Amino acid sequence: MDKQLKIMVIGAHPDDSEIAFGGASIFYSVLGHKVLMVSMTTGDIGHQSIDKETLASIRKKEAYRGAKIMGVKYKIMPFHDGELEPTLYYRKKLLTVIREFSPDAIFTHSPMEYHPDHRYTNQLVIDTSYMVMVPNADPKSPPMKHNPYYFYFSSAPVDGIFNLCIPIDLIWEKKLLVLHQHKSQMYEWLPWIGGFLDKVPSDDTEKIKFLDKWRSKKDISIANNYREWLKEKYGKNADKIRCIEAIVSAPIGRQIVSQEEIPTLFPFL
Ligand SMILES: [Zn+2]
Repeated sequence: MDKQLKIMVIGAHPDDSEIAFGGASIFYSVLGHKVLMVSMTTGDIGHQSIDKETLASIRKKEAYRGAKIMGVKYKIMPFHDGELEPTLYYRKKLLTVIREFSPDAIFTHSPMEYHPDHRYTNQLVIDTSYMVMVPNADPKSPPMKHNPYYFYFSSAPVDGIFNLCIPIDLIWEKKLLVLHQHKSQMYEWLPWIGGFLDKVPSDDTEKIKFLDKWRSKKDISIANNYREWLKEKYGKNADKIRCIEAIVSAPIGRQIVSQEEIPTLFPFL
């Protein structure tokens, strides 16, 4: 390892970073790099029958169990789910966390996702660019000496900017095990809001099989959206790639200017 990277993955709720970037985070961790996952809210409204306080505590335990499997550090900000706003108050709170960790790269939601917390997380994260280096922007935390790279989670190629696919078949089982820890979401809330709660098996072994089928479908669909990109990079072997995670570069922060930066930043590719 030439240099130990510091990677920050910022999601709106406990499980978002895992879903979009859990596989890549496992790769970074296995190679000895430092990963900090941050959830901008406690996720305390993501359930049909559990009260907010109890749910926040359940989700914290689920996230920490998953983090242990991934080998990453995990931080949950003390903000309510569904109430995040792109304001100076939240930006300053996030700025402190980012400056204290001083990441080389930050991965977060794209600007146009289904949930307001996801969109505002994106806004809050990109608003820390440049400000991470300004000493008086947050006198409580040390200013960074560099602007990090900023990337968004992606489910389909975006023209004209840097796109990257991370095949995750090698560690899919581990990612699945991480998602399996988020029982309140994977087996209760998401099936309930999606209208398929009756399809969730009661037996734990069957549950994992159900989760495997459901969640791999999502990462396979991303791979299919990026098939042409994968073919260019991997040739014939592209067809063997099943699940991927993908990212695109944000238009702010440090930019990738040479191909040589890619293996340094993504050492598992
Ligand atoms: Zn979310």
